[in-house]
Amino acid sequence: MTASRNSTAPAAQPSPDYDVVVVGAGFGGLYGLHRFRQMGLSVVGFEGGGGVGGVWYHNRYPGSRVDVESIDYCYYFSDELYRDWTWSERYATQPELMRYLNHVADRFDIRRHFHFNTTVTSAKWNADSARYQITTNTGMHVTCRFLVMATGQLSAARKPPFEGMDRFKGDIVRTSHWPEHDVNIAGRRVAVIGTGSSGVQTICEVGKLAGQLYVFQRSPNFSVPAWNGPVNQVLYDKIKADVAVEREAIFNTPGCNHRARIPKPAGDYTPAEQQALLEEAWAVGGHGMAAIFSDQSLKQEVNDIVANFVRDKIRAIVKDPAVAELLSPVDHPFGTRRLCVDTDYFATYNRDNVTLVDVRENAIKHFTETGIELVNGDQYEVDLIILALGFHAFTAPLSNAGIENEKGERPNDHWKTGPRTVLGITTAGFPNLFFPTGPGSPSVLANMAPQNEFHIDWIANCIDYARQHGYDTVEATVEAQDKWTAHVADVSNTILRRFVNNYMVHVNEDGSRVFIPYVGGMDRFARQANEIAAKNYEGFRFGNLASRSKAA
Ligand code: NAP
Repeated sequence: MTASRNSTAPAAQPSPDYDVVVVGAGFGGLYGLHRFRQMGLSVVGFEGGGGVGGVWYHNRYPGSRVDVESIDYCYYFSDELYRDWTWSERYATQPELMRYLNHVADRFDIRRHFHFNTTVTSAKWNADSARYQITTNTGMHVTCRFLVMATGQLSAARKPPFEGMDRFKGDIVRTSHWPEHDVNIAGRRVAVIGTGSSGVQTICEVGKLAGQLYVFQRSPNFSVPAWNGPVNQVLYDKIKADVAVEREAIFNTPGCNHRARIPKPAGDYTPAEQQALLEEAWAVGGHGMAAIFSDQSLKQEVNDIVANFVRDKIRAIVKDPAVAELLSPVDHPFGTRRLCVDTDYFATYNRDNVTLVDVRENAIKHFTETGIELVNGDQYEVDLIILALGFHAFTAPLSNAGIENEKGERPNDHWKTGPRTVLGITTAGFPNLFFPTGPGSPSVLANMAPQNEFHIDWIANCIDYARQHGYDTVEATVEAQDKWTAHVADVSNTILRRFVNNYMVHVNEDGSRVFIPYVGGMDRFARQANEIAAKNYEGFRFGNLASRSKAA
């Protein structure tokens, strides 16, 4: 191990070798940097954005706000931090989240350890020195013993596939990398392409501002109301009264949150009771709609009860029946793609200045100088095109960083038939590489903010174990990886969402399907992760340079 970096040294002059390099200054990376530094490790961070925030730095589009309740979607590691910060509403806006993350960076003196506007372009493992050799786009070269890729699962945006983008004379922006300068929307003719969570959020805001908004929809998505408003003060006070206890409590829930209700099978209720429960859940809003009945994610006939209820709501809200039908998903069960949470999404289509354009059969042919042309020749003249096309989720952030093991292989070379990991935190063949909330962990299925804390703590404890025992390297065994990968597949075997194409499903050429995140719940995940640690990292191989040179 290298000596601890002097905590007063400026970030502008990094020493070339660190115990840990952290990539990404979002929820995981900020806490990681803090935690590793607290352990006395030398640590430096790299972040592609111009400041802290991770996805929240880039996703600054109009309408951007978290769709998990803010009193849960925040750090729990410090009682004082939790108590001192007050969320102003149930679902914080992107600017409020940025204020919070900047507050955390300043409060724990994290910022100066990060190099911003700096992306890692290659990270090569050198077995002789047991270090990663890191290169950045700014020409920096550093080495490190441990590499922690806190790059998130939704940071590598999908490239827009549209022909003629250069030709278009208006402006094109992406929700995933919204410009830092003001984007003029008021009174303009605007197109939004994409109706996932990002598209749905921005459509609601842009509809209020634009002169004319065209929404280009390929697939309708289920969306439920957020009913944003004040926080649940009773619950907030309870959490503030004992943050540490509540932190453990949420790690013991499937979603890593304070959702109180434990669902029962639909068959336990009469049809009238089912409808009453659905109305109750609709009135509460948010992701709870995805867990009204314990078997709605497993049985098509139960899912239909929920899906039909929501489709009826869409029909009741949207005045034009033809538009309502187009907005009603019929090609996938409710909650089998990520549920969108909105403020007046369906009502937006009642506005005179908002037009829904169905591009499922009649696709976008290309962009013209003045707008968008569809395959059938229909033309839409616009001044601004907003792309909300989603991400190359899970694996792309690791590929983009050019991580290579001793043989020059990349994680994706081993993941051709789907990601293979232990706990979604590390992968065999890549010593000392960690990627919190990665594929094979609850990841995007559970509350990401405290979940990141859990993962970082697990990684920190593992590094500490190696350090205490004089080891230089730690690596998952293939056997442990096979076991975990089989378990991830087992728990997803019965879920409806495995059969629905979306960014959470890896489809192989032979048609076999791999559901990427761990669907067994945060509670079950945390128990197993803790057990592995308690058994001295069962399924991991530790080594040191001295024994390696003896063997050589
Ligand atoms: P997404 O859910 O993957 O949605 C992408 C959209 O773009 C889909 O509607 C897709 O249509 C459409 N699309 C892609 N290529 C297209 C093409 N060539 N022509 C027409 N349409 C095309 O991406 P996202 O909305 O950015 O959301 C990604 C994830 O980010 C979410 O699931 C969530 O986990 C996270 N997120 C969270 C929040 C929050 O907390 N508030 C907000 C935003 C996003 P198809 O469905 O037909 O492919």
